[in-house]
Amino acid sequence: MQGDIAKVEETTTKPSGMKIYFRLLRYVGSSWVYLLLSIIGYLLYAAMEPALAALLKHIVDVVSEGQITDSRTLIPLAILAIFIVRGIGTFLGGYFMAKVANKVVFDLRTSMFDKLVLLPSSYFNSIPTGRLLAKLTYDTEQVIGSITQAARVLLREGLTVIGLLGYMLYMNWRLSILFLLVVPIIGLVVSYASKRFRKLSTRIQNAMGGVTDVASEAIKGQEVVKIFGGTEYEIERFRLAAEENQRSQLKMEKTKFLNVPIVQFLLAISMSILIWFALSPTISAHMTSGDFIAFLTAAGMLGKPIRQLTDVNSTLQKGIAASYSIFEFLDMKEEENTGSVKTNHLKGDIELRNMSFKYPESESLTLKNISLKLPAGKTLALVGRSGGGKSTMANLIPRFYNIESGEIRIDDLQIENYELASLRSNIALVNQQVVLFNGTIRENIAYGYLRESTDEEVIAAAKAANAWDFIQDLDDGLNTMVGENGVLLSGGQRQRIAIARAILKNAPILILDEATSALDTESERAIQTALDGLMQNRTTIAIAHRLSTIENADIIAVVDKGEIIEQGSHSELLAKNGAYAQLHSQQFSEPTD
Ligand code: ADP
Repeated sequence: MQGDIAKVEETTTKPSGMKIYFRLLRYVGSSWVYLLLSIIGYLLYAAMEPALAALLKHIVDVVSEGQITDSRTLIPLAILAIFIVRGIGTFLGGYFMAKVANKVVFDLRTSMFDKLVLLPSSYFNSIPTGRLLAKLTYDTEQVIGSITQAARVLLREGLTVIGLLGYMLYMNWRLSILFLLVVPIIGLVVSYASKRFRKLSTRIQNAMGGVTDVASEAIKGQEVVKIFGGTEYEIERFRLAAEENQRSQLKMEKTKFLNVPIVQFLLAISMSILIWFALSPTISAHMTSGDFIAFLTAAGMLGKPIRQLTDVNSTLQKGIAASYSIFEFLDMKEEENTGSVKTNHLKGDIELRNMSFKYPESESLTLKNISLKLPAGKTLALVGRSGGGKSTMANLIPRFYNIESGEIRIDDLQIENYELASLRSNIALVNQQVVLFNGTIRENIAYGYLRESTDEEVIAAAKAANAWDFIQDLDDGLNTMVGENGVLLSGGQRQRIAIARAILKNAPILILDEATSALDTESERAIQTALDGLMQNRTTIAIAHRLSTIENADIIAVVDKGEIIEQGSHSELLAKNGAYAQLHSQQFSEPTD
C-alpha cells in the first residue's frame, strides 16, 4: 500500500523546481526587511574575501620591496578590521535569514492547518494520520532547512565567488578566463546530481510517512497489539518502513559524498592548469610577486564556496520536494460551501427525497433511493443490522459528505443552499466514538460556539446529562483535565460529557449515533430520561442498537443494505410482523438485553 502511494506520487508530473521555488519565495515577501538585512550581511562577508587576498598582495609587495616600517601597525589593524566586518556580516546574514525562514515555516504551517480544518471528511478517510502529521512537521522542517541553508550558501558563497572572480579578472583577465573554462564541466556534474537528489528526497519523505504511520497505529492500538499478539507483526512492519527510510537516506548520502570529491577533483585540475599557465612568462610577465600570490590565493579561496554551492543542492532539492508536498496539500479542494442561506433558527423539518449516496472510494451505492419525512420536533430512529448505512445517513444531514442524487431538504430547502457553518450550527451530534480534547471538562462541554457559556449553563447541561454527580466528585470539578481524548475518564463518563455538550448547544436538530452505547443499563436509563427531555421540541435522529431505547420514536426506519425496508411507529411495525418485529423478538430473547 505504502509503496503504491509512493509510486503514484513519483510518477505524476510535477511542476518544475523553479516554479515551486518562486511560490516559496512569495512567502518571503512579508519579511523583505529581514531579507534585505541578511543580504547586506552576506555582502559584507563576501566583500571581505577579496579584501583578504588584496591585503595579502599588499603584505607580499611591502615585504619584497623592503618598506616595512609604514605598514607595521596598519596591516595588523587591517586584518582585525576585516575579521570584525566579516563577523558582523556572518551574524546579520545568518540571524536574519533564520528569521525569514522561521516566518515562512510559521506561515506554511498555519495555512496548512487552516486548510486542514476545511477539508472534506472524505480526505481524512483517504490518508493515514501519520502521513498527514509528517506533512505538518517533517515536510515543513525540510523547508526551513532548505531556505536557511540554501539561501545562506547561495547568497554568502555566491557573492563570495562573484567578489573573488571580480578581483581575479581585475588582476589578470586572461588567466581568469582560462580558469573559468572548467566551470561549465562542474555545472554539468551538479545538474546531474540535483535531479537525482530530488527523486530520492520524495522517496525519503514517503518512507518517513511510513515510519510515522506504523508508529502512530501501534501507539493508538497498543492494547490490541498486546492482547492479539501483534507485537512481532508490528515490529516487522516498523522495521521494514525504517529500512526503506534508511536505504533511501543512504542512497542520498552516497550521491552527496560522491558529488563532493568529483567537484573537488575538477577544481584541482583547473588549479593545476592555471598554475601551469601562470608560470608561463608571456601571460604573467607584468605581475608582481604580490599580484601572483594574491591571484593564486583568490583562486584557491574559490574552492570552498564552489564546493559549498554544489553541496547545497541536496538541501535545496529536499526543500523543493517538501514544498511540493506542502503546496499540493494547500491546493486541495476545500469542502464545497456554495450555499448562501444563513440562519441559526431552523425549525427542523427534514425530508429525504429519493436520495442516493456513495463514498468516493466505494464502487456501489452505499444508500439507495431513500425517501423519508421527519416533521420538526419529531424523532426518527434508525435501526437495522450494522453496516446497513445508518451512520452514513446521519452524517449526510450536516453535509459531512455530498449526496449522489436526489435531495435532502431542511425546512423545505435543499441543504446545499445553506451556508455550511450556519447549517451545522443548527445541529448537535453525539456519536459512538466520543471525541474529547485535551483540556478541562468545562472546555470540553463548552466547546467551539459554546465557549462563551456561563458556569451555570455548563452545570445545568452537565446535570441534564447525568454527569454532574461524577464531575462534582473529581478533585478539580469542572476544571479537571481529561487527558488526551479523555483517557482519564471511563467510557460512560466520556459519553455523558459528549451528551452534555450536545445539551448545551441547544440546537433544533439532534443526532444521536449510538449515544448511549458505552453506558450500563442503569446509567442508560438515567440518561435516557435526560435525552427524552432533550428530544422534546427538537428534531431528533437516533441510531440505537438497543431497541428498548427507541420504542417511543415517532418514526422507526429499518435500514438494510443501504435501503429503508420498513418504516412506521413501534406498534405499526410490530403489527406488520416484518423485519422490525424480527429484530425485536431477537433482542428480547437475548438474556443480556
Ligand atoms: P451502520 O451505521 O448501519 O452500521 P455505516 O453507515 O457505518 O453502517 O456503513 C454503511 C456502509 O458504508 C458499510 O458498508 C461501510 O463499510 C461503508 N462505509 C462506512 N464508512 C465509510 C467510509 N468512510 N468510506 C467508505 N465506506 C464506508
